[in-house]
Amino acid sequence: MESSSSPLDAEAVADLVLLDPLTEESLVQTLQERFRRQDIYTYIGNVVISVNPYQSLPIYTPEKVEEYHNCSFFAVKPHIYAIADDAYRSLRDRDRDQCILITGESGAGKTEASKLVMSYVAAVSSKGEEVNKVKEQLLQSNPVLEAFGNAKTVRNDNSSRFGKYMDIEFDFKGDPLGGVISNYLLEKSRIVRHVKGERNFHIFYQLLAGASPQLLQQLKLRQDCGHYGYLNRESSSLPGMDDAANFQAMVIGFSPAEVTELLEVTAVVLKLGNIHPSWALALPSSHTELREICELIGLDPSTLEQALCSRTVKARDETVLTTLTVPQVSRNTPNEQKKVMGVLDIYGFEIFQDNGFEQFIINYCNEKLQQIFILMTLKEEQEEYVREGIQWTPVEFFDNSIICNLIENSTTGILAMLDEECLRPGVVNEDTLLTKLNQLLATHKHYESKETQNARHVTDTSLPERCFRIHHYAGKVTYNLTGFIEKNNDLLFRDLSQAMWAARHALLRSLFPEGDPQKVSLKLPPTAGFQFKSSVAMLMKNLYSKNPNYIRCIKPNDTKSAMVFTPELVLAQVRYLGLMENVRVRRAGYAFRQLYGPFLQRYKMLNPRTWPRWDGGDREGAEVLLAGLEFPAEELAFGHTKVFIRSPRTLFDLERRRQER
Ligand code: ADP
Ligand code: MG
Repeated sequence: MESSSSPLDAEAVADLVLLDPLTEESLVQTLQERFRRQDIYTYIGNVVISVNPYQSLPIYTPEKVEEYHNCSFFAVKPHIYAIADDAYRSLRDRDRDQCILITGESGAGKTEASKLVMSYVAAVSSKGEEVNKVKEQLLQSNPVLEAFGNAKTVRNDNSSRFGKYMDIEFDFKGDPLGGVISNYLLEKSRIVRHVKGERNFHIFYQLLAGASPQLLQQLKLRQDCGHYGYLNRESSSLPGMDDAANFQAMVIGFSPAEVTELLEVTAVVLKLGNIHPSWALALPSSHTELREICELIGLDPSTLEQALCSRTVKARDETVLTTLTVPQVSRNTPNEQKKVMGVLDIYGFEIFQDNGFEQFIINYCNEKLQQIFILMTLKEEQEEYVREGIQWTPVEFFDNSIICNLIENSTTGILAMLDEECLRPGVVNEDTLLTKLNQLLATHKHYESKETQNARHVTDTSLPERCFRIHHYAGKVTYNLTGFIEKNNDLLFRDLSQAMWAARHALLRSLFPEGDPQKVSLKLPPTAGFQFKSSVAMLMKNLYSKNPNYIRCIKPNDTKSAMVFTPELVLAQVRYLGLMENVRVRRAGYAFRQLYGPFLQRYKMLNPRTWPRWDGGDREGAEVLLAGLEFPAEELAFGHTKVFIRSPRTLFDLERRRQER
């Protein structure tokens, strides 16, 4: 099959590796032109960029699945299915574990992309009954994860407020066996606080809208959102979102007993929001809620009252960040030889007006993902060159290890110093932390604060007090240190966990193992930063052991409109996603490579010695063909199975000559 559009289509190249000249403007323009043509997918080598169309396009039909199934990657238009197919085939036929990394800002289409990958794999793997059960379970895990982890934000009506990593396990035939899902950094603080125009987690609205009157009564809930302090800030229902129907979808796959337990805990959270701390339980309504909560979870009301009153005000204000892991879906046949496809759906780089601990952590994670991208791409290139018997020449690229180190170094990194400050006896606050950072990092090229600026005689007045700035690979971000210590401490007051652990409710108890008085340790629990750093390290190790595939998602406008493309907005994302660096690394050695056979087919008309017929082998044919065209020797390399072309210009030259014939 031959490509329908020419790779030379200069206005809208399908692979940005071939972009010439390569500038931020030309890159954005190309995406814009392709978006206009409803070509929402574009490659950088085998990285796919996806621009959210905000409308349903007819490109996910069973016919499309068939078209991409077992086709040659470069023979059809760029598509997320092509990546999914490539990854799946490489897993099945070449026995290589895969990972698919999906990044982009909120609303860019990451979660949709992960669902598309999953449903593609489900569609092309075999259709035995057992297999179907697993596939169904995997696809069904979405509603429950989204119910408890997604919420409406100003950017996205269905924004995932956690990072998700899912391993799909396959047997040697390539049939799915099961899966494991891990969550990173759930935005727990949303329960008690969210900004105007946003909602709390979907589950609360779903529960009130979808539960039968009997169920509501059993859970001691009222149907009216306005009754609940955590929900009554905004209008409860959203256009285009059927909370009641989603509630029905969410409970599928759980036993009735499991559902009841889960909803009891959910109801308790909702009711806790109605116990106002400053009323100190003096109000009868607070007492009613308290009594009902205790009935739901099998706890003596005085125990809960005492626990709540000791530090209530503080606890309500707390922002809690952590990582948690929820194993999901049956994990059967542990001894069998398994292959794994990991799918990572995680928030991209964030730069807001005011950036706090959350952004610091998220951006650290993205810095690590960028680092691993560079390492893995270079590794992959090197491996291909070795396979093909081509000499490797070192490549220049920006190594962001220096920034990763600035954050994670175990003695002088910002996280380590934050931990040290959190553990220091006596009065700790962010000012002393900032002083220390300034001393230690005074000369660091990627660190700045008012004080280091003064020392360096920089006259930039944009850096506020109590802030520091990091020069990330994607740009400079100013972080406000206020709240870092409290959020890093991540302390739930011990009396509260002990009260929860004392409840006669199995699920609830299991959520507070630290409340077991037998297990109380004097050692402080690990800080949020420490936990996150360890889980990022584990994630990176896991990813590094697999063959990477990348999906970079872009949001074309801020109004969720189809057909609107705002270049400035896209440019910012192009930077945060590091796309220019992607292209540079990708074409560091040779921008283009193709198997000898298809290459010869496409260009043989350019040389009378290969046209109209060439009777020899493909490789000699390609060599003879190119020898007659007089390109500089360093532009070409001949591997065992592929021809390599160094610069896009040479390929364009070939294409131009072909079109002129
Ligand atoms: P993210 O996970 O990056 O925050 P989502 O995947 O939730 O973003 O996408 C936000 C919204 O954009 C979706 O609810 C959907 O309406 C739309 N969308 C995303 N990707 C596509 C797509 N490929 N086709 C059609 N609409 C899409
Ligand atoms: Mg999402």
